Amino acid sequence: MPYDDDNIFAKILREEIPSIRVFEDDETLVFMDIMPRTDGHCLVIPKTPCRNVLDASEAQLAAVMRTVQKLARAVMVAFDATGVTVQQFNEADGGQEVFHLHFHILPRHADVSLRP
Ligand code: ADP
Repeated sequence: MPYDDDNIFAKILREEIPSIRVFEDDETLVFMDIMPRTDGHCLVIPKTPCRNVLDASEAQLAAVMRTVQKLARAVMVAFDATGVTVQQFNEADGGQEVFHLHFHILPRHADVSLRP
């Protein structure tokens, strides 16, 4: 499927809509999810166009996964978490709603479920 730069994360990258940015480097951006399923739920995206994992280059995957590891560690410390869920969806039938590659980072605690 082609990349459509009308998607909401492309608009966040272009600063056409607001977001709470928590980290960025040359290749990736991290911002808070607008409907957090745990406290500290954030999203890691590449700065370059990419629809999902099926569409990603090795360089995009490497850059995004480096940031995923960095942020997973950081949110665990920031939210005093004892675990972290890294979640990612591909295409509508795979649960994807926004068609710019993103990884969910969800700090977790014992006996606390993800919010719907
Ligand atoms: P799902 O909604 O099934 O988790 P995705 O993996 O495509 O599907 O996730 C899209 C995520 O983007 C959702 O968690 C949603 O809350 C988040 N989101 C949508 N719009 C914004 C926005 N403007 N700023 C931050 N997060 C957003």
